[in-house]
Amino acid sequence: MMTQKEPVVRLLADLVAIPSMNPMGQNVPPDRYSESGVASYLREYLKRRGIDAESYEVSPGRPNVVAFIDVKASETLLLEAHMDTVHAEGMAIDPFDPVVKDGRLYGRGSCDTKGSIAAFIGSVTELLRRGSKFKYNVLLLFVADEEYRFMGAQAAVRGGLRADFGIVGEPTSLAIVRAHKGVTRWRIRTEGVAAHSAFPERGRNAVYIMGEVIRRLETYAEELARSKSDPDLGQPTISIGVIQGGSAVNVVPDSCWIEIDRRTLPGEQIEEILGAAAAKLGDLPHVRMDPPYLSVQGMSVAEDDAVVRMLSNALARGGTNAVNTVAPYATDAGIYNAEGIKTVVFGPGDIAQAHTAAEFIELDQVKKAVDVLKCLMAA
Ligand SMILES: [Zn+2]
Repeated sequence: MMTQKEPVVRLLADLVAIPSMNPMGQNVPPDRYSESGVASYLREYLKRRGIDAESYEVSPGRPNVVAFIDVKASETLLLEAHMDTVHAEGMAIDPFDPVVKDGRLYGRGSCDTKGSIAAFIGSVTELLRRGSKFKYNVLLLFVADEEYRFMGAQAAVRGGLRADFGIVGEPTSLAIVRAHKGVTRWRIRTEGVAAHSAFPERGRNAVYIMGEVIRRLETYAEELARSKSDPDLGQPTISIGVIQGGSAVNVVPDSCWIEIDRRTLPGEQIEEILGAAAAKLGDLPHVRMDPPYLSVQGMSVAEDDAVVRMLSNALARGGTNAVNTVAPYATDAGIYNAEGIKTVVFGPGDIAQAHTAAEFIELDQVKKAVDVLKCLMAA
């Protein structure tokens, strides 16, 4: 039971209590594995505070929520965080009964990233309630499907999202993350001909063909490790993470597939990424590449860029030391930067807590984030 008085803590607890697990492509009950419950809660919450919020589906039952606070400023700040969480199986705590203990709020999504959603809304509503003047128009955007395929952010961009700069809320412990790699994932398949294993010469073994694919990709991985490196992010990489093929030991396999994880540097284009991999396999017959099922760009915002400076100043004024850094993981910020919206990643909570069996967030971090964001937005 919640006894905390601060509105931002109550908001966070309410958000954690509404399951919004990402279905990750599985056939699971949509009441718990969808962002729609959180989306309707947020729409209502904002409406009661005089903020008109709308939602639209990025795929059936998977909405984004958007609200524009128009103060007739010349510039617009995007505040974006994702509503989906990873699944809650095997958690050591009750995932959807938010408990506050020793200054921490426990529950699935508390840190990744309902804490950021609460901090964004908490700072905006507090400024509005006090009648403070805003420096920028604010575009609040809460998206679906960050944990799996980045569909929400991609849909927002396709829908014509406009902003001058932005913050993507992720648990950075209030550090400013100004660069991270991107990631593209896809499958490569080989096609064989099935036969009885006593007569392998009558078939074509898809696993043998895949063997050659794997050797070439291993050589390609070594080339990438020696290729041009980014001063902040190092080299691009390629890795084979999954292999599957064959149906029984006495049947020559007619199919085999592998799954590729390619970590990219900012500026690498998807056509180049796939083209380079295809070129390594070009002359091999019976090999086919699926289109990527996930692709998000890397991003790099200069240390002296306006958005980094503004947020650093706000941190200093909010009494928190500004640290700027790079992250090993990909976020929605790659998608907005690719559209020319200078976007950094910043939010309360420690990434070490994300996706864990006893996920929590330090409430002090959430309150500090609110202070920093108020300093950033108030004129
Ligand atoms: Zn996240």
